[in-house]
Amino acid sequence: INVTKHFKVTSGLLGLQSGTVRAVDGVSLQVEQGETLGLVGESGCGKSTLAKCIMGLEKVTGGEVIFDNKTLAGWDQKKLRRSMQMIFQDPYSSLNPRQKIGSIIREGLDIHNIGSKEERREKVNYLLQLVGLRSEHGNRYPHEFSGGQRQRVAVARTLALDPKLIVCDEPVSALDVSVQAQVLGMLKDLQTQLRLTYVFISHDLSVVSHISNKVAVMYLGRIMEIGPSKVLFKDPKHPYTQALMSALLLPDPTRQPERIALTGDLPSPMNPPTGCPFHPRCPQAFEKCRNGRPELMALDTGVQVACWLHTPSEL
Ligand code: SF4
Ligand code: MG
Repeated sequence: INVTKHFKVTSGLLGLQSGTVRAVDGVSLQVEQGETLGLVGESGCGKSTLAKCIMGLEKVTGGEVIFDNKTLAGWDQKKLRRSMQMIFQDPYSSLNPRQKIGSIIREGLDIHNIGSKEERREKVNYLLQLVGLRSEHGNRYPHEFSGGQRQRVAVARTLALDPKLIVCDEPVSALDVSVQAQVLGMLKDLQTQLRLTYVFISHDLSVVSHISNKVAVMYLGRIMEIGPSKVLFKDPKHPYTQALMSALLLPDPTRQPERIALTGDLPSPMNPPTGCPFHPRCPQAFEKCRNGRPELMALDTGVQVACWLHTPSEL
């Protein structure tokens, strides 16, 4: 059993634009080496901000991020930049169109001055193969590749520095569904092979369900439900998770829940509703939800949920 705490955010108040959003309140987000933590929620729910905090790209105004048993500030910054890498949604804009693929992948090695020229060339070839491309591809330019291939290049570039943690921000959202499955499969294989740890961000619950060991469902900068993905997807407890899940098409139509349509728009995270942040859109909201804000409560299934329906009444 591996008990390495790879990173952990506690009681974080995360800065977002000019205001602050309470993104992780009294909960530890934790992911073990070789596993994936999925962060799911609608756009604007604070997933990307949280990711940036994990990466140390955004200042955490309360709480701290612990990575490999050290706070981010305790790390040698150069080492930290190598150990944590990020993959972005758009494989089109994240690759320089005037740079050959080989030199894009090699760039990190050049910057950090790793290995001899020959060793770098070998590493680039190895990385190309690792992501399912061929060494000849190194001499081509990004526009000669499909979206899926470009995302493979982006992954190869990320892997060049042997990172421990990779934050994937909507890495397959710009791709066709069939290509999504291939890229997800590749990420999974690479994880097993290299014992990589992922934080995997997506608005798409089905994508997250395929890759995550643990899932956190976010709404307006708060975690509504978090737990082992097997338990959470089998029996979602939070009405928001239930609504997200009801929109998924299950392979077995007899088990398909009735679609729960969410009415109303996502309110501004700067000015969240009182009480439960989900109450204006929640089909099960009742009086208490307007006034009191439910905290995350641990259920005996290992899932934590922030909803009055699951809070013991003596509280
Ligand atoms: Fe819905 Fe109330 Fe639960 Fe919030 S606390 S999710 S409004 S039932
Ligand atoms: Mg985002």
